[in-house]
Amino acid sequence: MGQGFANLPSVDEVLRGPAGQLCSARFGHAATLSEVRAGLEALRARLRADPAAAPDRSAAAEGLGRQALAALERADASRMVRVFNLTGTVLHTNLGRAIYADSAVEAATRAMRHPLALEYDLESGRRGQRDDAVQQLVSELTGAEDACLVNNNAAAVLLVLAALGQGRETIVSRGELIEIGGSFRMPAIMEAAGTRLREVGTTNRTHPQDYAGAIGPQTALLMKVHTSNYLIQGFTRETTTAELALLAREAGLPLVDDLGSGTLVDLSRWGLARERTVQDALRDGADLVTFSGDKLLGGPQAGFIVGRRDLVRACASHPIKRAVRLDKVRLAALEATLKLYRDPDRLAERLPTLAAFARGVEDLRALAARLAPAVAAATGRAVEIAETRSQIGSGALPLETIPSIALCLPAAGGEADRLAVAFRRLPIPVVGRLEGGAVLLDLRCLDDEDAFVAQLPAFGMEAPC
Ligand SMILES: *Cc1c(COP(=O)(O)O)cnc(C)c1O
Repeated sequence: MGQGFANLPSVDEVLRGPAGQLCSARFGHAATLSEVRAGLEALRARLRADPAAAPDRSAAAEGLGRQALAALERADASRMVRVFNLTGTVLHTNLGRAIYADSAVEAATRAMRHPLALEYDLESGRRGQRDDAVQQLVSELTGAEDACLVNNNAAAVLLVLAALGQGRETIVSRGELIEIGGSFRMPAIMEAAGTRLREVGTTNRTHPQDYAGAIGPQTALLMKVHTSNYLIQGFTRETTTAELALLAREAGLPLVDDLGSGTLVDLSRWGLARERTVQDALRDGADLVTFSGDKLLGGPQAGFIVGRRDLVRACASHPIKRAVRLDKVRLAALEATLKLYRDPDRLAERLPTLAAFARGVEDLRALAARLAPAVAAATGRAVEIAETRSQIGSGALPLETIPSIALCLPAAGGEADRLAVAFRRLPIPVVGRLEGGAVLLDLRCLDDEDAFVAQLPAFGMEAPC
């Protein structure tokens, strides 16, 4: 053994040093000890390879302490990082879709901190139903007889198909066999639910007679699916919910309408295209309607099954319901979100998703004029104010875009990628989009101007390799 090993600090010396103590205080003794041991082991291995490299004992102790601290800080960094969504896609699935309204945040926080009457009837002191509070609100807002809440709309569709269609056939148009991002494919969901897919019609045209001709003793239900993320144009014929309702009535079969985005209000009021609402689908004769909580509705991730009481009850009492039920935190947030719909006049002030859609171009232009000089100074680049168009996102209103304003930073080739990376490396990462040889920062969803500006001095671009 060379001189080097005698100079190695003991584990205790490392733990007693300033960095070691700070590390223990922040991350606990056990984690610090295990990092320090690993560090000492690595140091021993280095000395075996190069016995002449004798460390200074106290410098080595402090070095190992700092190394442990840095390693545990890295491991502790959250991967659920807050970002600025300047992509121009308002309901960005990869960035978490809808932002909660303040009242929903408060309700969720209360539900996390305190016990609550979740499945408990305060009048009788007896067990109550988990979905009751929200169910009554949904019925009030949509006119549905009953409602059942689950984890997301994918779960709602799965549950409906399993509860009503298991072992028998579900009839769907070939034009509506959708795939939503993240592997939600209608044929696969049907298989998972144990119902046989009976496709009718063609990609572009499906007539009422196509459904009528397929109805037989094996038929369990008729299904209509909103083609959320594509549009079939040209020589087309879609069988409407109202037409299907007539067929379903005649055959004594349930009609399910998967709306995807659950719109409860007429969006044309805020300058968007009018999207069929849940109320429309029910009025047209759908027996059950399924939709999401975190798309156009602007609430937490959730799935709704609303409509005829006997069918909703069949879903609610199916074993899958228990596996996909909503947790108390999201139920609380959902109740608070739905309550906002009682006052449509103030919805755009209170619901961040709608506020983002409703934001006027002049407002955004003024914001861009305030931000452009700060962004130019921080990046050392030219910043233009450009007209652009925002998208709705999450497969809602696929072709609909809204005029918006972006900061545009021209950059050629690989330069644009590096620029985009540099924005994503800011303390609160800024996620923009690349378009036509420029990085675009669409300002529609910028909700905290001060925080955006305050972090700009940290901007740094790495030299090209
Ligand atoms: C988005 C969507 C779904 C899936 O909803 P999630 O809430 O994302 O699970 C199902 N069907 C349609 C038509 C959709 O648009």
